[in-house]
Amino acid sequence: MAVVGLGSMGAMALWQLAKRNARSGSSRMTLLGIEQYGGVHAAGAYAGESRLFRVAAKEGRLYTPALLHARRLWQELGASTGRDLLIQAGALSIGPAGHGDLEATLASIAEHELPHEVLDHAELRERYPQFAVREEDIGVLDTLGGAVRPEAAVLAAMEQALEHGAQVATGTEVTAIEPERDGVLITTAAGERIRAGRAVVTAGPWTTRLLPELSELIEVVSYALTWLMPRHIEHFTPSRFPGFMRDLDEVHAFGVPTLDGYSIKICPHVDLPAGTDIGGLTLTLDREQLRWAGEQARRMIPDLMPEPVRWSVHPEGRTADKMPVIDTLADGRIVVAGGMSGNGFKFAPVYGQALAELALDGASEWRHEEFTVAAHQRRRESCAQPPERGTDR
Ligand SMILES: Cc1cc2nc3c(=O)[nH]c(=O)nc-3n(C[C@H](O)[C@H](O)[C@H](O)COP(=O)(O)OP(=O)(O)OC[C@H]3O[C@@H](n4cnc5c(N)ncnc54)[C@H](O)[C@@H]3O)c2cc1C
Repeated sequence: MAVVGLGSMGAMALWQLAKRNARSGSSRMTLLGIEQYGGVHAAGAYAGESRLFRVAAKEGRLYTPALLHARRLWQELGASTGRDLLIQAGALSIGPAGHGDLEATLASIAEHELPHEVLDHAELRERYPQFAVREEDIGVLDTLGGAVRPEAAVLAAMEQALEHGAQVATGTEVTAIEPERDGVLITTAAGERIRAGRAVVTAGPWTTRLLPELSELIEVVSYALTWLMPRHIEHFTPSRFPGFMRDLDEVHAFGVPTLDGYSIKICPHVDLPAGTDIGGLTLTLDREQLRWAGEQARRMIPDLMPEPVRWSVHPEGRTADKMPVIDTLADGRIVVAGGMSGNGFKFAPVYGQALAELALDGASEWRHEEFTVAAHQRRRESCAQPPERGTDR
């Protein structure tokens, strides 16, 4: 079995496959993970120090059970590697009462009886004076939320996979995956030919280069991250300041407490153009975009200094309605996860488990029917208008 692409989903799939494989005694198979860059790198969708983690899913009822399970897996991975992966600072959504995202978050909380707090504007100001809050704002605190550290998480999953007997080939770009009678033929840029019973393809924003048949469902887009310096960094540590999503007028932003000791991540959403191939994406911000991001961030958190002190832009695969594509192709010889749509990291270990189960058992309770290629195609054909995408993170 081969896993092609060891970023967020691939590293987790390799970990889950290796864990199962280690328990299978004499029927153990060879398990190979293949990555075009080094073990951990900054070129894919996961780089950038932190990813917001929520359990109360505003995206709908499918997701909260998966996020509760993901949280257990994040804790397991952190404990088994001694790495501090999950920052349990809570995830706070702030916006005007009645805002669609807040209503959806509250519905998910009610349905799954999740621990939470609802704060009115006065309580918000008292508890979190870092935020500029308006009379009409409320806060919904998902107390099981917070943030995860993506680079450390990818490394941790790979360490666990290696410990359970998997092999990893880094610096190895796959150029083709072809189904054969008994499995797949994987060709690398160096001309190597690798035969495997199955391939799990987790190539993130490169997915459609390897599987062009998914091009009608997955586009590539870039998302920007910005960090600003507060004057009083001591008010922004994880014990005093949560992960957050803030809707202010038409601007959606998300952020994470300080992890570097001098800045906080706060990312007002900058709309960057989508494309059909990662090669055509813009992977930087211009001065005007930086100025705008700084201005919006300071409207939300007045203690911030004017402009971002660091920023980065990362590629990602995106579907029309932001549901991931997780499915089997070529009679089960290829298993794919792509189109994570700016939301996928929090789910990575549970989607890794889904991929492992699809590859080994042909089914997984964590792979909803809505994620299949056929379901994406059905939704696409039944939509005259492009669907509402919802907001990010
Ligand atoms: C800027 C930004 C902010 C985000 N914020 C959040 C957030 O706060 N919370 C959240 O939950 N989600 C967030 N997301 C989404 C999340 O990070 C992504 O959904 C997730 O990282 C996607 O994982 P992936 O495995 O599909 O892709 P990746 O993590 O990019 O992994 C793909 C891997 O495949 C490798 N690869 C590709 N092609 C080949 C090949 N031909 N041969 C060998 N290897 C190959 C790549 O090098 C890479 O390592 C954010 C995304 C971005 C871009």
